[in-house]
Amino acid sequence: MPFMQTHDILVRGTGAAGLCTALALSRQGLAVALLGPLAEPEQEDVRAYALNAQSVALLRTLKVWDALPADARTPVQDMHVEGDAPGAAIDFSAWQQSLPELAWIVDAAELERALRAAVKFAPHVTSMAVPVPAALEVLAEGKASATRAALGVRMERHPYGQTAVAARLVSDRAHAGLARQWFRSPDVLALLPLDRPTPGHGLALVWSLPEEAAQTRMALNDADFTALLNDVTSGVAGQLVLAGPRAQWPLALACADRLCGPGWVLVGDAAHVVHPLAGQGLNLGLADVAVLAEVLAAREAWRALGDEKLLSRYARRRLGPVQAMAQVTDGLLHLFASEAPLVKELRNRGLSLANHLPPLKRLLTARALGG
Ligand SMILES: Cc1cc2nc3c(=O)[nH]c(=O)nc-3n(C[C@H](O)[C@H](O)[C@H](O)COP(=O)(O)OP(=O)(O)OC[C@H]3O[C@@H](n4cnc5c(N)ncnc54)[C@H](O)[C@@H]3O)c2cc1C
Repeated sequence: MPFMQTHDILVRGTGAAGLCTALALSRQGLAVALLGPLAEPEQEDVRAYALNAQSVALLRTLKVWDALPADARTPVQDMHVEGDAPGAAIDFSAWQQSLPELAWIVDAAELERALRAAVKFAPHVTSMAVPVPAALEVLAEGKASATRAALGVRMERHPYGQTAVAARLVSDRAHAGLARQWFRSPDVLALLPLDRPTPGHGLALVWSLPEEAAQTRMALNDADFTALLNDVTSGVAGQLVLAGPRAQWPLALACADRLCGPGWVLVGDAAHVVHPLAGQGLNLGLADVAVLAEVLAAREAWRALGDEKLLSRYARRRLGPVQAMAQVTDGLLHLFASEAPLVKELRNRGLSLANHLPPLKRLLTARALGG
């Protein structure tokens, strides 16, 4: 007897992309089987994500945004980006661009906790310990997806030779909703405002460094690491103190050579991995989820969920934005990593010039907001 299909969708992976997919598709009345751990991870994720307006809108629709503790999400009102020459900087302001905020900084662990809680109560989502047959499999297994590999999808990894060091900090100066980023050739350092662990004074650090330098900094004791950080930031963000453990991630660029096939589709890091310097990886993943939900909701009544033609509508809509973001992050990294004097001069002049061009700033902001 052929096996019975009890579910419309099988979502493989319980990271943010998989959990959002399960929630979004269950809202359409589809029966979703969810494969992956739903228990609290042993180690708390120390990262904070910069999420754009589109991602926040999706989380609101899924009723997850308002479930986040107030101190786990902080609006960014201003952003200051510095090059590696005196005066080379660009500033963005929500107020000047008539926006309520430029982005939100969200505690990664709290976001995943809220998503896990939401799927436990979602009416059409069943947590599974083993895969079950379904009309459509959504692969959200992250960058090392085994199911993607078993399907023969190629995803060539281009390592940057860089590692991101992340940690939480507290400053003696109020963050005032200001995000700061330094392009310090070859490293990129970001301090993002987050009301956790201390309201008004918490900061999330993301420091992308050449691998060896990252290992050296990870090996420092807390006091020496903090002293180095205060030295590098010259006190402009106040006196910084480490507020928890440091964690590290190797960085690479990778895009799958196909986003779908008969009965399967890729979302999130299983489909694309970008450098975190622009804070766009999960934003891309959540945009995948939103587009997939739209495409499935708009399907013809006679068309099966796993129909390749239907799924290729999703792939066509996602290919352009994903490739564009991969190129932007990759281009920015190489531009700011170059030691060539002419490139250095041009990039720093470019920053200062762009700072005096409001229409260009509006365009850059709109892109970052997911417009
Ligand atoms: C330092 C750093 C900072 C970042 N900052 C930002 C930012 O500011 N903004 C932003 O938008 N993005 C940011 N990102 C990117 C973001 O972290 C990722 O894009 C996002 O976490 C990917 O989510 P995901 O659900 O696709 O994958 P993952 O989070 O990797 O989840 C995959 C899940 O699948 C599970 N899994 C794996 N294999 C299987 C299997 N065979 N069966 C079942 N389950 C499986 C895993 O256990 C895991 O739970 C950052 C990344 C880094 C490294």
